[in-house]
Amino acid sequence: MRTKQEYIERLRTMRRNIYVNGEKIARDDEMQMPTINTIGLTFDYAADPKHDGLCTAISHLTGEKINRFNHIHHSKEDLHKKQDMTRLLCQVAGGCIQRCMGIDGSNAIYNVSYEADKMNNGATEYHKNFKKWLERFQKEDLVGCCAQTDVKGDRMKRPSQQKDPDMYVRVVERKSDGIVVRGSKVHNSEASVADEILVLPTRALLPEEKDWAVAFAVPGDWEGVKQVVSIHNLRERQYFKRGFTPGATDSYTIFDDCFVPWERVFLCGETIHGGVCALLFALFHRHSYSGCKPALGDLMLGTVALAAEYNGIAKASHVRDKLAEIIRVSELGYAAGFTASEMGKPEVYIPGVGFRPYGPGSYIPNSIYANVGRCLTGEAVFREAEILCDVSGGIPATFPYEGDFMNPETKDLLYKYITRNPDIHPEDAAQLWRYVGDLACSATGGIHMYGAFHGGGSPIMEAIAITSQYDIESRKKLVKQLAGIKDRKVNPENKDKK
Ligand SMILES: Cc1cc2nc3c(=O)[nH]c(=O)nc-3n(C[C@H](O)[C@H](O)[C@H](O)COP(=O)(O)OP(=O)(O)OC[C@H]3O[C@@H](n4cnc5c(N)ncnc54)[C@H](O)[C@@H]3O)c2cc1C
Repeated sequence: MRTKQEYIERLRTMRRNIYVNGEKIARDDEMQMPTINTIGLTFDYAADPKHDGLCTAISHLTGEKINRFNHIHHSKEDLHKKQDMTRLLCQVAGGCIQRCMGIDGSNAIYNVSYEADKMNNGATEYHKNFKKWLERFQKEDLVGCCAQTDVKGDRMKRPSQQKDPDMYVRVVERKSDGIVVRGSKVHNSEASVADEILVLPTRALLPEEKDWAVAFAVPGDWEGVKQVVSIHNLRERQYFKRGFTPGATDSYTIFDDCFVPWERVFLCGETIHGGVCALLFALFHRHSYSGCKPALGDLMLGTVALAAEYNGIAKASHVRDKLAEIIRVSELGYAAGFTASEMGKPEVYIPGVGFRPYGPGSYIPNSIYANVGRCLTGEAVFREAEILCDVSGGIPATFPYEGDFMNPETKDLLYKYITRNPDIHPEDAAQLWRYVGDLACSATGGIHMYGAFHGGGSPIMEAIAITSQYDIESRKKLVKQLAGIKDRKVNPENKDKK
């Protein structure tokens, strides 16, 4: 396994293809350091014997110890540990730990590449190629990100119906030694600090949409790849530093007629599997959310509780109700993820058919529970921000600048006038309101709320997954029985008129 320093050293050797605000920057540019420090925690924790077995796993390919973020789940225990590791690391980072896209993308492709080869009766070697890629990914402890979301152009049109076919990443040429791809993925978290970018489809595809059924992996600085990056750093503190300062980045990852050799292609033209790959990545990713969202809930709970205490209103009954609301959502989200792990198996649910074996035997979380958990916690993000706003009052929104707490002309006056609860040292109160400002009154705080709401798919996507996979018919039958409604045969002439 690598150290954080070795991770940074490798980033330094990468080709400059990162564009930020009109300039090309190096990967270890100061602006990217908060993000690099956040991912750095995944190396530090894996090396710490206290977290051995939680943040590490044993590779099923080599039998060697690896970082759990590069592991393929092979048991319920693995799924539980992924959830718990994610919760722990997000608590420490104070938000997204940013390495889950790699584990979720590789677990999806691991299964799909196997099934595609099976369907192709040995004519393709996607799975063998993927395993070769995975072995290096694990051995060298690389950081992966996942580029799934296409720019999508006209939302009401399919990939093949778009005026510009490049609105979804597609294959524009098939050669003897590889393929040429064109298009842009968007909102790709941490692609600018990733060693490898895993690329897979966004949606279900029609049989004639073969060019869009493509999955592959390329290094982040690969020839033909340009990343236009937005960097979400907190307002810098000069005097009153935070305990830990996280960062995040998101890329428009543009494939400008980018050549990908066959050994890095894991799906090319198998439309059915393209759709399953999209669903599976979303499923694994929503399961990751059952770790990170409870962590965000933990942080929100702690923040609201401190805000109430520092405002001297901790005993007010409306505060208790609000704390209970945050706990309810976080722990139900965690419980849903726990159940998804516990019910995990090497099978996927096919609507109308039921569970069917899928992939070479690795474990897939239960889809219903992964989706309901993510839906519940994802949609609560703005409600929780509202609770924090309510309990804090206006103070974090208009809090004076750090310098005014240093200036002898204003310092003592400010500490006097921000004091609310006499038991709280005003310097501690000031640090809390700065923290709340970062969380809820900053551009970065707003961006994280968008990520927490839409990441892994907008709520409507979860609603579709839940309702298309849930056995609603059996519930209708239950009620018909109770209500005494006869099970009549539908007149075939009226069948399509519903
Ligand atoms: C901070 C952040 C980080 C992210 N990280 C990643 C990442 O690392 N990798 C990655 O691949 N993706 C990532 N995402 C993308 C995320 O998965 C998408 O934002 C999400 O899937 C929604 O897609 P969209 O942003 O294109 O929204 P849109 O699709 O534009 O959705 C906008 C609205 O339109 C609705 N809508 C869309 N299409 C239709 C339709 N056909 N019919 C009816 N309504 C429709 C949606 O339900 C929604 O209400 C990230 C997003 C954010 C905000």
